[in-house]
Amino acid sequence: MTVPGSGEGRGDARSHAPAAAGVLDAEGVVFLGPGAMEIVPYRVDPPGPGEVRIRLAASGVCHSDLHVLDGHWTRPAPTVMGHEGAGWIESVGPEAAPPSGAATRPDAATRPGTLRRPRVGDLVVLAWTAPCGRCAACRRGEGWLCHDPAGSGHRRSPGDVRIRRPDGAALGAYSGIGTLGSVQVVAAEAAIRVDPRTDPAIAALIGCALTTGVGAVTRTARVQPGQTVAVIGLGGVGLAAVLGARLAGARRIVAIDRRAEKLERAVELGASDVLVAADSPATTAAAVRALLVEGLDAAGSSRDAASATEGVDHAFETSGTVAGAETALAGVRPGGTCVVVGMPPQAARLGLDLYAFVESGARILASNYGSAVAAEIFPEIALRAVESSLAFERLIEERIRLADVPSAFDALRRGEGARRVVIFPAA
Ligand SMILES: [Zn+2]
Ligand SMILES: [Zn+2]
Repeated sequence: MTVPGSGEGRGDARSHAPAAAGVLDAEGVVFLGPGAMEIVPYRVDPPGPGEVRIRLAASGVCHSDLHVLDGHWTRPAPTVMGHEGAGWIESVGPEAAPPSGAATRPDAATRPGTLRRPRVGDLVVLAWTAPCGRCAACRRGEGWLCHDPAGSGHRRSPGDVRIRRPDGAALGAYSGIGTLGSVQVVAAEAAIRVDPRTDPAIAALIGCALTTGVGAVTRTARVQPGQTVAVIGLGGVGLAAVLGARLAGARRIVAIDRRAEKLERAVELGASDVLVAADSPATTAAAVRALLVEGLDAAGSSRDAASATEGVDHAFETSGTVAGAETALAGVRPGGTCVVVGMPPQAARLGLDLYAFVESGARILASNYGSAVAAEIFPEIALRAVESSLAFERLIEERIRLADVPSAFDALRRGEGARRVVIFPAA
């Protein structure tokens, strides 16, 4: 067990002996304000009570990071960016005092997820919302909506700072985890243990894209075997939604993007049909219906045909655009479910033909972090990835170094390719 402040100085980075764990040297992408970032060294304190220190193995570069960098979302600076990462526990802080009334359950040690006390060497996926367990949302079992997640505020308040520039100036950690940095101190609740056989690059994606996309399908919409699905936008989250729809047993999965070169990857992940988005949402939606009808084989019943002309059972908007949401609304059948998943710029507003919408009896659902509790869904997805790693591998466009992050942001801005994942060098 590490005592904060003990062993100050350069700890042996490779040592797993907690007593020797002092301040560690690290390197990360620091957000300096809209349009500005730098890749710089920083220093990491030992973990405090209820915290763990993580050596990052991999971090995805997500569109949400780009929203921050491009000033679409207001976030404090300077802050180490990134919120989609996985790594190994390097050291464990002292146990936090248990909340009053909490009892230790005898079966806790055997369950995956957070319940067993974290150990040095555990492979963990970092959660950008680590439920506090006490607020109203957490008590409802909706930890993804937690009002006061552990390590929130980007770890910038004086008592929360764990990383500093070499001159001692404080740095924040985005969403309390700052995964585009090679070492971080996080709340133990934010570090979810997964099967150690999981490819670390895939594990990183479980922290955002996979949970968001798969959870939207299986948790938010609860897609049933045999239903029809459309996915609008084929970035990391959209491709994960395609994969999730396949895992859920959807009968037809129509994958849609503005860029034709993204469609092939969606087919590899399980899409039955693909479509280049048209200029207008109504035109795209009409094309979806035409595909559904065309795809009915000779044995298809007339009832299936009638249903197909009405649209899909579930439409998932993952592009973070108003046009995408309009396409989802136009493409869903009466009584169907339109799930808004992609995070738009803060100023985005959706217009709605209210009369037509009420008449349609459709539902619009917002999906935040896959409507899932990280400690439950992370180990589940990791197990799926271990079982069928080839499919999950198709989510990754390229494995890159930290120095390549600026060009990865450029590619994201242009809407090019699937996920780019930073692989950190082994310590
Ligand atoms: Zn993300
Ligand atoms: Zn909470």
